[in-house]
Amino acid sequence: MRFVRGLSVAMGLIVAGCAVATVSPVQPGAPRSATLASLQQGRNVETQVDIQRLKDTLAVLSGKTAMASGQTIPERGTVNGRELTRQFITGTLEASGYTVERHKYRTNGENLMVRLPATTPTDEWIVVGAHMDSVKNAGANDNGTGTVSVLEIARLMRQVENRKVNVLFAWFDEEELGLIGSEYMAAAFKKQGMKISSVHTIDMMGWDADKDRAVEIERPDGVLWDYYQMVNKTHGLNLKLARTDSGSTDHVAFRAAGFPSVGLCEEWEGGDTTPHYHKKTDTWETVDFAYLASTTKLFTAAVSDLARKVPAPPATKFVPHNKFPGRDHTCGPNHDNHAH
Ligand SMILES: [Zn+2]
Repeated sequence: MRFVRGLSVAMGLIVAGCAVATVSPVQPGAPRSATLASLQQGRNVETQVDIQRLKDTLAVLSGKTAMASGQTIPERGTVNGRELTRQFITGTLEASGYTVERHKYRTNGENLMVRLPATTPTDEWIVVGAHMDSVKNAGANDNGTGTVSVLEIARLMRQVENRKVNVLFAWFDEEELGLIGSEYMAAAFKKQGMKISSVHTIDMMGWDADKDRAVEIERPDGVLWDYYQMVNKTHGLNLKLARTDSGSTDHVAFRAAGFPSVGLCEEWEGGDTTPHYHKKTDTWETVDFAYLASTTKLFTAAVSDLARKVPAPPATKFVPHNKFPGRDHTCGPNHDNHAH
């Protein structure tokens, strides 16, 4: 607990040190209307989340439709399935203008990442990621949904101007074998001394049977719980957010390496979670794309605001993950720490 509290204070100081303005000053001589338009675009880039793109990309990832090469990804658990997955994700990112880095950490274990440098040079980073592997099934929800969500944010963030923080987008390998890819990546970043102010992961975001669009915010360190709530309001998204103590996926690996982290998930603790979890029936047809899109908008807005250093709310309360009020997280059906 002391470990987490220390991180929270550090995170608060980082945010307290940033500029107070929510937008950059207008450049002298710049056409005012054009500048305002670009700032407006930067503020609301989440409105461009493309539900059809989410559907089409997830159709390939879950083997419903073929890749451009004509090959199909039948599952993302075997060596072959995971390599096909990497090829597809690489092609998708290259079409968005990125250069893809392969982070090979062991035989047949390779994460993917791309870097989006800030428009104002800095050594500060935000990491945004999702695991791309499955349990040898189509894995449409787990975690095709998170994979395509991060692909969409990576595509949209290139349009955001006045970025004051670098963003690294990552797709983790071998999460289902025990957070292996994310642990290797977190260790590599720690060794490199990367200054990472927050890590955001997303895992399982395609089930919403009660249609309340609720999102679980898992173990938000530092200002992140307040930050997501702020963004949810200021961007007019008004989703129901629930803080949980769930430690079932990749954010755990980054927090353990000392980086303030958070995870986004469907209502895993709340019980409104896919009945197809780790089954052959976790297919494209079961995914609620309107829900995936609404969460991807929240995620995009949060990453966009953090990248532009929109300040956190001033009165952040740092509550330890097992002490926050209003929720009995020990009684849920999934309170154990199985990997998603
Ligand atoms: Zn998962």
